[in-house]
Amino acid sequence: MLKLPIYMDNNATTPLDPRVLNAMMPYLTESFGNAASRTHSFGWVAEAAVEKGREQIAQLINASSPDEIIFTSGATESDNLALKGVAWSYKSKGNHIITQKTEHKAILDSCKYLQKEGFEVTYLDVDKYGVVDPESVRAAITDKTILISIMYANSEIGTIQPIPQIGEIAREKGILFHCDAVQAAGKIPIDLQSTLVDLMSLSGHKLYGPKGVGALYVRKKKPFLKLTPLIHGGGHEKGKRSGTLNVPGIVGFGEACELAHRELPEEMKRLTHLRDKLREGLMAKLDYVHLNGHPEKRIPGSLNLSFEFVEGESLLMGLKDVAVSSGSACTSASLEPSYVLTAIGVGPELAHTSIRFCVGRFNTAEEVDFVIEAVVKHVTRLRELSPLYEMVLEGIDLNSIKWSAS
Ligand code: PLP
Repeated sequence: MLKLPIYMDNNATTPLDPRVLNAMMPYLTESFGNAASRTHSFGWVAEAAVEKGREQIAQLINASSPDEIIFTSGATESDNLALKGVAWSYKSKGNHIITQKTEHKAILDSCKYLQKEGFEVTYLDVDKYGVVDPESVRAAITDKTILISIMYANSEIGTIQPIPQIGEIAREKGILFHCDAVQAAGKIPIDLQSTLVDLMSLSGHKLYGPKGVGALYVRKKKPFLKLTPLIHGGGHEKGKRSGTLNVPGIVGFGEACELAHRELPEEMKRLTHLRDKLREGLMAKLDYVHLNGHPEKRIPGSLNLSFEFVEGESLLMGLKDVAVSSGSACTSASLEPSYVLTAIGVGPELAHTSIRFCVGRFNTAEEVDFVIEAVVKHVTRLRELSPLYEMVLEGIDLNSIKWSAS
């Protein structure tokens, strides 16, 4: 039986995997100790659970050691810690940071903040698929550059960046490289032995773990990396992030990483299949549908489509039984066209017709069929009300029309 509403917004957040909740339960109940309590077994049990979580997370990204994982409250904090922590530590060496235009706001707003402190930031362009050219990264490097920050995959359009190639350039030039891998971790393989990233942001709630817990991977050797903390206090996490550790959250995050790691090949196949079924189903039944993002270099499950002649918000209102979003979930409160779609050259009119579908672990083929049917029905209904669509059907070239201003 199909259970409504259908959740298909898994890039915004994911439901907790029941296996993750099972792993967390003891630490929400009888094993409630503070991982920093060294004088009794409650503390030791909590500390052991935290260290297991650290190991599970390190394994997902093939880090050299669990010691390279610093726990945070989520990827927003990890991004802030990476950018500000490096900027403040290395400002005597230089004041230039390189990033790109479709990063998450946690990166873009941290960069804006650092600009107010006197740092200079280059925001690189992306191509029509949202991909950064590694050679544009190389060209932007100056003798003042201290950090490059490029995301692994975009939450809105799913495009995967050429992270290994950018890592090679960063290493060759001796510049630190941070990568926000929130949308890639647990969805595509990440190998920090072959990919030369120095700092990596991760988040629990994007891979079927709990909210409010994240991590920053910080490479331990080659280079030795200094990081000024954002939060001062009890000296937890080797002084890089003070604050009592969220033990159940870390246990859940760790378990989620282990499951994602173990099931990655199967899940990649299944979600790619469901996403393609959704895309093909919609494109076969509707005309004037455009794919946003890269056709192949994209994370499984992620699909962003523009339905020409249909207001995205009206479509969302019609799709009451389907939870999807228009633009990024983080910015969908504003009616500005998505900055990510703007960066890939989608005009404001088409951007306002865009819907993001994100298929996840708990979606089924039956749900995809339901979503296809619902979207086709509502797009067709809304287009019947659109004079522009009618004109196009009559063969009128909309670009040739001189619209009156009044
Ligand atoms: N970075 C990216 C690419 C994201 O998609 C998100 C969440 O949408 C974040 C960072 C923020 O993560 P968190 O919710 O853990 O703060």
